[in-house]
Amino acid sequence: MVKYLYILIFLLSTLFASSQPNPQSKKITSNFFPDYHELLEITPALKKKKGFTNYQELMTFLNNLKNKFPDKMEIKFIGESQKGYEIPIIFLNSENKNNLKVWFKGGLHGNEPAGTEGLLYLLDRLLNDSSLKHLSDNTNIAILPMANIDGYIKQNRYASNGLDLNRDQTKLMALESINIKQAYTNFNPDIAVDFHEYRPYRKDFARMSDFGITSLYDVMFLYSGNLNVPENIRVITDTLFVKNARSILDNYELKHHDYISTTKHLGEIQFNQGSTNARSSATSYALNNTISTLIEIRGVGIGKTSFKRRVNSAFSIALSYLKTTVENSDFIKSELKKSLNYNSSDIVVTSSRTVEKEIIQTIDLNSNKIIDYEVTIRDALRSNPTLVRKRPSGYLILEEKVELINKLRILGLEVNIVENDTIMKVEKFKITDYNDNFDKYEKMNLQSVKASLVEDEITIKQGTYLILTNQRTSNILTELLEPEAPNSFVSFGILKTEINQILPIYRLIN
Ligand SMILES: [Zn+2]
Repeated sequence: MVKYLYILIFLLSTLFASSQPNPQSKKITSNFFPDYHELLEITPALKKKKGFTNYQELMTFLNNLKNKFPDKMEIKFIGESQKGYEIPIIFLNSENKNNLKVWFKGGLHGNEPAGTEGLLYLLDRLLNDSSLKHLSDNTNIAILPMANIDGYIKQNRYASNGLDLNRDQTKLMALESINIKQAYTNFNPDIAVDFHEYRPYRKDFARMSDFGITSLYDVMFLYSGNLNVPENIRVITDTLFVKNARSILDNYELKHHDYISTTKHLGEIQFNQGSTNARSSATSYALNNTISTLIEIRGVGIGKTSFKRRVNSAFSIALSYLKTTVENSDFIKSELKKSLNYNSSDIVVTSSRTVEKEIIQTIDLNSNKIIDYEVTIRDALRSNPTLVRKRPSGYLILEEKVELINKLRILGLEVNIVENDTIMKVEKFKITDYNDNFDKYEKMNLQSVKASLVEDEITIKQGTYLILTNQRTSNILTELLEPEAPNSFVSFGILKTEINQILPIYRLIN
């Protein structure tokens, strides 16, 4: 008898191990997330019952459109993935070079397919639906539909060397990160939207309410609360672009919220809201004075459940961003111009989030009902500066640090070289506190430092690199070069240091 029981347990365990069960009940799907059947079956994954768009299907889809509209669209390749796949980017360029430039990206995490599919759907509609023609006529559009091809083919979040490409926007350690960032810099967009999906059944959620919860939101909007992003750009992102997209979602009765995600803080489960971190795209783009949003659609870990609904969310938001751009183009252009003169005298090196109790709506898995649930929110959209410094007029980087210079150039910064030995007034960083006692993060040996500024007037040698802060992309310099900034070259261990050392990065005064 006992023997048979063991065999039964063994059979059951292999059954569960081999298939990844969808954590979502049919009841939850039909009550809260019914699929959107009006969507046309025109993209590869929408045409087939199982699986998502593979590389061959992607290229066939793009080439078919290109054959039909040879003058309207352009396919280029930004470089290769680590496994050697050429990464395609599509340009829909209008006649007018002065039109605002909009950048769309999907599939940076390989297991988040609604973004990729939504962008393919968008491309098809912009070309085939004449009622949308005015949108591509009055903007210049770049679409990078499958940013992480190696991951996408395996429906795996990571690049093939295991790196998370959306933690790699300042350190640029993966080949894809370099290729994507270079393409971004070359295009130099005014508006950027990065499509992702999020996991609605997180481990932490299983411990909430009586028998666990699942997220209610079809879409969450992640945009930057980083205080070095010009304030008018932060305001326009929220009160114009996100607001308009929200009202489109309301028309479809899709639920939405600012992006929140659980985090453990002193043993308690809390929620982070918004972003200040330059290592991920929402803030990294915004620090280039771009109106930037990362879209999180409810989809990771539930296979193809409600897939048309998810694709429609991505498509509708992309369309909304284009409409908002076209309908407000003069206003946006003048605000972007204003943001260039946002040379506030101070830069914010570190900041802290506002912490508050808030009520969110969520689905209770026991009752299958929407409940109000009180949570602690750590809000990046309401950040307060904790370390402020005077804005330098530039940064000097000593000659031998070519690796840093290459990264800065890929990130869109103009780098000058000092032509003759010149006496300059500088501030040097002296490391006064040093800690490298961390687990590896994204394969990097992190360092955490404090530094004091030491004023000096010295001869700067010919050949030293000089990066001025009066350029459009300069707001990201704080995040890269001020050593205490959480995503800086020092914090990520790209620039190794030790206690009492003077860094080979100087701040230029005047
Ligand atoms: Zn993602």
